[in-house]
Amino acid sequence: MSCPSLETVVAWALDELPQAAAELFEEHYFECDLCFRRAQHVHRLVAELDGSLPPLLTSERREKLSAAEPDMPAIKVRPGERATLHLGGKSQFGLWIMQAAVADATRVDFEARDTHGELLFAHQDVPFDADRNEVVLACQLHYRALPLAGTFCVRLSATDRAGTRRVSEYLLDHEFEAV
Ligand SMILES: [Zn+2]
Repeated sequence: MSCPSLETVVAWALDELPQAAAELFEEHYFECDLCFRRAQHVHRLVAELDGSLPPLLTSERREKLSAAEPDMPAIKVRPGERATLHLGGKSQFGLWIMQAAVADATRVDFEARDTHGELLFAHQDVPFDADRNEVVLACQLHYRALPLAGTFCVRLSATDRAGTRRVSEYLLDHEFEAV
C-alpha cells in the first residue's frame, strides 16, 4: 500500500472508513513514519473539534487550532455579507470568522438554516470573542458527506445586559473539492 491521501487519513480518524480499508491503513501506518505522524496529527485535530456538528470556538480553542494548522483558511465575514470557504486538498479544516457587535453581549445564540429556511443546526449560548467582536465557526472537509454541505444561512442573536437583542445574518458558502 502506498501512502493514502490525507483525506483517507481524516476519514479513518473519524471512523468513516469501511473496516477493510481501515485495517489496511492501520497496517500501513505502523510501518510508515509519515502516515503515523499524519494520523496522530489528524486525530488530535478531530478530537479538538469533537462531535460531528460544526462547533463554535472559544478564543482559546481557536488559538490552539490555528497553531496546529497554520495554513488553515480563515474567512472573515461581516453582517449581511456572503463569503465562500474552500475545503479540500491540504485544507481539511477552515474557520468562519463572523464579525459581530458582541462587545456588550452577555449571551449569543447561533442558528444555521439551508437556503430553503430549514434548520440545519442551532447552538444556544455559544462562545464569542468580546474583545475582537467575533464569533468563530469551525468547518471540516468531511461535512461534505453530510446534508450540511452547501450554504449556511447563519443568524447570530446577541443579547446584552439590558436584554436588547441584536441579530446579524451571514451567508456562508462551502466549496468542497471533488474526490
Ligand atoms: Zn504512508
